[in-house]
Amino acid sequence: MQVAKKIAAITPSATLAVAAQTKAMKAQGQTVSDLSIGQPDFATPAFIDAAAKAAIDANQASFYLPATGLPALKKAIATHLAARGGATYDPDQIVVTTGAKFALYSLFSVLLEPGDEVLVPIPAWVSYIEQIKLAGGRPVLVPSTTTFKVTPAQLEAQRGPATKAVIINSPQNPTGAVYSRAELEAIGDWAVAHGVLLIADDIYRDLIYHGVAFTSLTELTPAIFANTVLISGVSKSYAMTGWRIGFAAGPRSLIQAMATFIGHTTGNATAVAQYAALAAYTGDDRTVFQMRDAFEKRLDLVWPRLGQLPGFHLEEKPQGAFYLFPRAIEAAQMTGSSTVDDFAAALLAKTGVAVVPGRAFGMPDHLRISYAASEATLMAALDRMQAFIEKYR
Ligand code: PLP
Repeated sequence: MQVAKKIAAITPSATLAVAAQTKAMKAQGQTVSDLSIGQPDFATPAFIDAAAKAAIDANQASFYLPATGLPALKKAIATHLAARGGATYDPDQIVVTTGAKFALYSLFSVLLEPGDEVLVPIPAWVSYIEQIKLAGGRPVLVPSTTTFKVTPAQLEAQRGPATKAVIINSPQNPTGAVYSRAELEAIGDWAVAHGVLLIADDIYRDLIYHGVAFTSLTELTPAIFANTVLISGVSKSYAMTGWRIGFAAGPRSLIQAMATFIGHTTGNATAVAQYAALAAYTGDDRTVFQMRDAFEKRLDLVWPRLGQLPGFHLEEKPQGAFYLFPRAIEAAQMTGSSTVDDFAAALLAKTGVAVVPGRAFGMPDHLRISYAASEATLMAALDRMQAFIEKYR
């Protein structure tokens, strides 16, 4: 049976594809240093696991919840957001979703008429473009500056009559770039002036390093706040990728439409995971900041080493998330590959180091390295990458 055209036009997730290949190699007994993965290598903090077990024991996990989410969790998210940066939401402005991924897809689904455009600054996380297409919209790619950020002028150059929204992801996957307050204010004012909805993907907000101040689009002027949908979740901050809990917060009309969409698609996000997320948002944040500190240490370890790899070029040092996005086309060419895609494949096959080609993020001459791996794994991987490239010198 032929699959629908809208699915045939979708590129499978490159990160999930590398992850599958890596797993297969491991299953055959090969040693793989996996730097492809977009998730913390830490286990979910024990107090969160305990809350989930307690919810099961209290028989709270057995039943459907409201499609918008567990009321106590929505209240906890509102309190958490107010405490983190001051944005104030009523619980009915929040919808809990099956990961931030489904918050985004629900939003695109209720927002976009066929042909509506969403501005996507490049490089961008792999799923934005495909989700916009799946929801019937048109992703419009906006090239960034050398610091991997976009300005109002760059956005304005791509704005047209069908422009409906823009996505700003800070800290950013795949580069770790963080927008300053002034940069966000300029983008926010531009969006308000032109009636373009802001989608703030703040999922990495807690993973920010070296004392850099995080600002969210939701924490600027009342006009920008009213024109923004916030997307976030527990995956990255709390080492909870497997639990699949995210949320959207924003204007009631959109949130209510998303709740209707969710009611007919996933139904409520898994109940036991919502109880776990409730513990995360109401519990002691010490573990979040311990993990953050570990990522910061790894960044400091990997950054100088990566800069020394022949044929690798780095822009500004990342300030958040847990990725590096070097330009690697020269390294590819030095080792006999004409593309970074081939280079990444050769690295995996010949050295067992898994990274993600930049093409998946809209910049094919770069590659993404995740440092959400142990220091030993990171150092061993860098040694093997260096030896591989130097063989060709
Ligand atoms: N947004 C960005 C920028 C991401 O990197 C990810 C995950 O990799 C997500 C959203 C989705 O996160 P989740 O669905 O695990 O909550």
